[in-house]
Amino acid sequence: MLTEKDIEYIYQHFNSTPAAHDCGQVCAPQNDGIPFCCDSEWLIPVMYEKEFAYLQGMTNLWKRFKPRTKQEQKLIEETDESAVFVECLGHTKCERQFRSVSCRLFPFEPYLDLQNNFLGLTYNYKLGEKCPLVDKPDIVSKEFISEQIEMWRYIFEKEPTELDVYHDQSIQTRRYASRMKKPLYIFTPEGYSIGPYRLR
Ligand code: SF4
Ligand code: SF4
Repeated sequence: MLTEKDIEYIYQHFNSTPAAHDCGQVCAPQNDGIPFCCDSEWLIPVMYEKEFAYLQGMTNLWKRFKPRTKQEQKLIEETDESAVFVECLGHTKCERQFRSVSCRLFPFEPYLDLQNNFLGLTYNYKLGEKCPLVDKPDIVSKEFISEQIEMWRYIFEKEPTELDVYHDQSIQTRRYASRMKKPLYIFTPEGYSIGPYRLR
């Protein structure tokens, strides 16, 4: 199980950003000045229970997310109880050292095969085409990919049930990429490759 100490370790060691430039400056003008992934109208961050508990003792940046619509309520009810839906004070008050694991990872996610082998990172398509970093494999920082892979190895070791979460998520991502006829990018510290849509 992930502990608050583990969360502290993660926050202290895995800080790289996905691109060399401030990507929020690129996407914010398309969303009334708010980076898409920092806007709960577009994306509601989710935390581990221990992550939320750790942050409560460190900062006022985060609070539990209060659903505004029946759809959001349904989303929360259908998600594993151990996940905490949260909201921060907003991009103008961001405290970078207390960004959530999900903030640090976006727009990527761990990619697993059907046997739960962790193969690398792939894009998270929750914002579809809105995130300008998505589907531009040449601009992602190698340091970011290496750090995130190390971070996820650490998380999977401490919280093996996360392997099942991303096993299922990777199936969804393969289906999405296949339906949209997009390359399925898989990033490792050595570079990237294009994975098949179907696995055995
Ligand atoms: S990760 Fe994507 S959505 Fe988030 S700030 Fe950067 S460009 Fe915008
Ligand atoms: S903590 Fe910072 S990076 Fe994360 S959603 Fe809030 S403003 Fe964005």
